[in-house]
Amino acid sequence: MSKFWSPFVKTLVPYVPGEQPKLAKLVKLNTNENPYGPSPLALAAMRAELSDDLRLYPDPNSDRLKQAVATYYGVPTAQVFVGNGSDEVLAHAFHGLFQHGQPLLFPDISYSFYPVYCGLYGIPFEAIALDNNFQIRVEDYQRPNGGIVFPNPNAPTGCLLALEAIEQLLKGNPDTVVLVDEAYIDFGGVSVISLVASYPNLLVTQTLSKSRSLAGLRVGFAVGHPDLIEALERIKNSFNSYPLDRIAIAGAAAAFDDQAYFAQTCQQVISSREALVLELQQQGFEVLPSAANFIFARHPQRDAAELAAGLREHGVIVRHFKQARIEQFLRISIGTPEQNQALVDALRECLV
Ligand SMILES: *Cc1c(COP(=O)(O)O)cnc(C)c1O
Repeated sequence: MSKFWSPFVKTLVPYVPGEQPKLAKLVKLNTNENPYGPSPLALAAMRAELSDDLRLYPDPNSDRLKQAVATYYGVPTAQVFVGNGSDEVLAHAFHGLFQHGQPLLFPDISYSFYPVYCGLYGIPFEAIALDNNFQIRVEDYQRPNGGIVFPNPNAPTGCLLALEAIEQLLKGNPDTVVLVDEAYIDFGGVSVISLVASYPNLLVTQTLSKSRSLAGLRVGFAVGHPDLIEALERIKNSFNSYPLDRIAIAGAAAAFDDQAYFAQTCQQVISSREALVLELQQQGFEVLPSAANFIFARHPQRDAAELAAGLREHGVIVRHFKQARIEQFLRISIGTPEQNQALVDALRECLV
């Protein structure tokens, strides 16, 4: 706190990202990064950008990247917005589409950045409780609202909401924006981008940080009706004309073009997840059904905070949230088979 702070800054409660440890040797299963590297074609495209042209500003509209996303999903480029990580895209959506009198609705167990953006932009919200199985019940969102947002699959639970249920939600809330945050959709779900043409109130965000293994590059995007996209462009062009640099535009577009590498690495993560779920169940863990690149698990006899601390002593880091309802869960990112084995071995030692 300082006398130089504005009264507004004093009210902020910022997001706390997962740890990025300086120790290289740790098995890092705490922030849902992809254990495999980015597409070799993406790396080559980025290397090709390292030239004298870096003295020039990038394309403010990132047309090359919008085109790659539009082609991949079979939508017009006017329905695509890109930003500096999907966190930035989400922030613009909160700012431009959720600032109405009514409360924004999102699940009580969800991405912890949502309440932070509400604080930043002065948006009232209501957290809607997940059911006892940690599932979203769409009936509970049938109430006056200034918008609805949730991750699908949900984070940190990993649970997927069926496309039909999302369509029911859209039909029941035609007058407010429904934002589906598909950060993890490529690990076992079907994107609702296919519904964008039918529902002008649907905005879908995705990131290249998880399934395309580019968390370090900071690229995300949204797909929705051109009117929603225009709102995001208005915010973006009132804030930063060049959120994506030349290297990011080239690398992200190439990552989208390399469908074979994408499909192969996603499948490897999914197979590893299924194997890891079986291992943890054999150790007595209850594991929520996951369609993401992480699992959410609790042990009926062991305290999760102690397990997380024990794992750390064995060189494995996972995420533990000190939050009501989920304080006995661990969120474990899916690593390579070797990393997952290190986790299983460390857990075995912690559980004796
Ligand atoms: C990781 C994540 C994001 C943010 O992704 P970036 O593109 O890296 O900013 C958004 N939503 C959820 C639910 C996430 O887990």
